[in-house]
Amino acid sequence: MDINSFKIDIEILATWISNYLMNLEEKPVISDVNPTEIKKSLNSLPPIEGRKISDIVEEFEKKLTKGITHWNHPGFMAYFNSSSSEAGILSEFLISALNLNGMLWITSPVATELEEIVISWFRNMVGLSDNFWGIIYDTASISTFHALGAAREKLDLQIKEKGLAGRNVPKLTIYCSEHAHSSIEKSAIALGIGQNNVKKIKTNEKFEMDIDELRASINSDLNDGAKPFCVVATVGTTSFASIDPIEEISKVCKEFDLWLHIDAAYAGVAAILPEMRWITKGWENSDSIVINPHKWMFTPMDCSIFLIKDKNILKRAFTLVPEYLKTKKDDEVDNLMDYGLQLGRRFRALKLWFIINNLGVKGIESKIRNHINWAKDFANWVENHPHLFLISPVHFSTVCFQFRINSESCKDKINYYNQKLLEIINSSKKIFISNTKLKDQIVLRITFGSYWQEERHIELAKNVIQESIDKILRNKIE
Ligand SMILES: *Cc1c(COP(=O)(O)O)cnc(C)c1O
Repeated sequence: MDINSFKIDIEILATWISNYLMNLEEKPVISDVNPTEIKKSLNSLPPIEGRKISDIVEEFEKKLTKGITHWNHPGFMAYFNSSSSEAGILSEFLISALNLNGMLWITSPVATELEEIVISWFRNMVGLSDNFWGIIYDTASISTFHALGAAREKLDLQIKEKGLAGRNVPKLTIYCSEHAHSSIEKSAIALGIGQNNVKKIKTNEKFEMDIDELRASINSDLNDGAKPFCVVATVGTTSFASIDPIEEISKVCKEFDLWLHIDAAYAGVAAILPEMRWITKGWENSDSIVINPHKWMFTPMDCSIFLIKDKNILKRAFTLVPEYLKTKKDDEVDNLMDYGLQLGRRFRALKLWFIINNLGVKGIESKIRNHINWAKDFANWVENHPHLFLISPVHFSTVCFQFRINSESCKDKINYYNQKLLEIINSSKKIFISNTKLKDQIVLRITFGSYWQEERHIELAKNVIQESIDKILRNKIE
């Protein structure tokens, strides 16, 4: 290894990254390349001779950066934010330098033990008791997959050993709201439960799961001879950021002996704020919970925290230890490969350790508090706007709204003009917002939550939206 040239390369990248983050705001937030444009600009064959890092960085800058939609851009207000803080970025650098694999305790004791520590920190930050044991997976989809896998194992139907097909097992059913995330269905597909056996429960006017509907659906499935086994409740639904009534759902789960999994992938971190702690009401009655630090806690992709009360069920569902992975310490320690599908594990705990240490609970709190305040302020602006209508209650940092030329617009007009407004707003390249649908009508969706956002960016968003509305209204009159 040529240590001096490596140090120079580190400096090249350090400079590139610092300049990138400093000047991000001036870049268009969304990439405007056409499909295949990037591909065609690149060599179709691999280089035979190795190239210098400085040359590679130069080509990266020239050809690849065009195709980046900048998730760290303060104008990125689409989907749910995922932004990386300085501590997060630096920790990833270290993680790849160490390149440890925490599959077993012995393959790096620090990986397993630090994971336990940062999860207990996190549990403390959101006010959960140590009745929950935790593990870090890559994404919420995978966390939810493991929750449902554990719930299925708890049925004692020997599905792990014998599978589902070709024998006499009842139809298994899962319940979630109509606004729940698609990862629940994907998990049901992967676990052999089937997409049709995920029952989408209707919601009330606040987009919350309707308890009577839930009960009715469970009873009707029981009458049909099915075996209901799990309810997934959402805190912060993906479309409308609504909150299912956890406490009431947990009572239903108790009554019917169902696993309760809480999907708080986006909004769970809000519980760090004392004034938002109310969202965790009833969580202690759940069997498992997922919260993603990679969404709203300034952690680079990827990092999803999965909390579960009965870690032994999870282990029973997923453990399989081949001869070559047995160690003498197996009785004394947790080998994290026993608690999931994957064998190899990245050292994700180090990211959380860096970030929580660097920002402190206070620093994280104040960022999240700002985002929520800005969302409330934005919602206020929407409510006082003659052409904008608030669609759902604003609990977190996401606001759903609709543009109407007049309050009585018909559905086709609403769809036409909201689609148009969305296109004009995003073509500004200054902010990037996304959309969803409610009863076949397009709804616009703006979300705050970036580490790099400041109050002025919310003013910028209002200005861009107002200018775009003006454009539509002007053309309409002409
Ligand atoms: C984002 C999100 C998911 C999926 O998260 P991934 O980590 O991308 O798998 C699931 N549920 C909710 C409520 C989400 O907001």
